[in-house]
Amino acid sequence: MTKHTISPQTGIMGEAFACECGVVLVGRMTAELHAAENNLCSVCLGSALEQVAPDVARDCTACAGTGRRKEQITWQLAYAEAEHLITMTVVRGIVSGFDGPFHLSEIADTVRAGLGLPTGRLPVGPRVRDLLLQLQVAGEITMLSAPDEMLGTDMVLYRDPQWQRARTLGL
Ligand SMILES: [Zn+2]
Ligand SMILES: [Zn+2]
Repeated sequence: MTKHTISPQTGIMGEAFACECGVVLVGRMTAELHAAENNLCSVCLGSALEQVAPDVARDCTACAGTGRRKEQITWQLAYAEAEHLITMTVVRGIVSGFDGPFHLSEIADTVRAGLGLPTGRLPVGPRVRDLLLQLQVAGEITMLSAPDEMLGTDMVLYRDPQWQRARTLGL
């Protein structure tokens, strides 16, 4: 089986990628198409890594760190299912039971237990985080935990952020 590991190239052609099979792919879209045709994840181009910042990489979240197209599609469907199942009403209801500070992981665990989902079945954490961030923007909850990791000057990676309901803070 021919390998199709695609890597970015720095050169005179602007954005270009080289594939192990010998082709040179000009432009991000061409590289994504070549990855998809060869059953590789179109986000990480089969590398299984996601570049969060110039020198920070983590497992690609689109394909669960596998680099494969099949997993990427499975996860896309799982994200859609998580969005459908885990609604703002569900998360707001759980949050209202906390008078003190709570972690993202506590809410995610409660959601998972409430829906009877085994760990890893659906991307519960990312979905719950998105909803909690929406509640934060709406002013219903306040983030308490300090950023865990600064990536560059304006990007922050939160590992397990902590919030508290604004009303219980006396704000
Ligand atoms: Zn190739
Ligand atoms: Zn990927």
